[in-house]
Amino acid sequence: MEECIFCKIVNKELPGEIFYEDKKVAAFKDIHPLAPFHLLIVPKKHISSVDHLEEKDKLLMGELILAAQKIARKKKLKGYKLQINVGKLAGQIVDHLHLHLLSK
Ligand code: AMP
Ligand code: ZN
Repeated sequence: MEECIFCKIVNKELPGEIFYEDKKVAAFKDIHPLAPFHLLIVPKKHISSVDHLEEKDKLLMGELILAAQKIARKKKLKGYKLQINVGKLAGQIVDHLHLHLLSK
């Protein structure tokens, strides 16, 4: 977990363009953007994937989605996609739960 790259970005031990943060959530630019606007929205707490969520993380997941909504409103995005890859076979390469926010 200490080696987790997204934990390091959240804890500002690695440079990352933090675009948004609140108490529980942070969002930063994807280094290989797949859309003109591509952020990763993550819980500050390390959770490996959706498959590792526990009952107590229910509200936190809502906060991730609401952070996406907040960012989209602030950026006046006309539409956007939210994507979560779960597990290596589905293309998850970073084992720290993240929501992709993609838009034009
Ligand atoms: P996933 O395939 O869902 O695990 O997505 C991981 C994403 O993290 C990919 O789109 C990568 O481009 C992105 N990524 C990997 N390392 C970094 C980093 N240091 N800073 C920002 N984004 C990263
Ligand atoms: Zn982590």
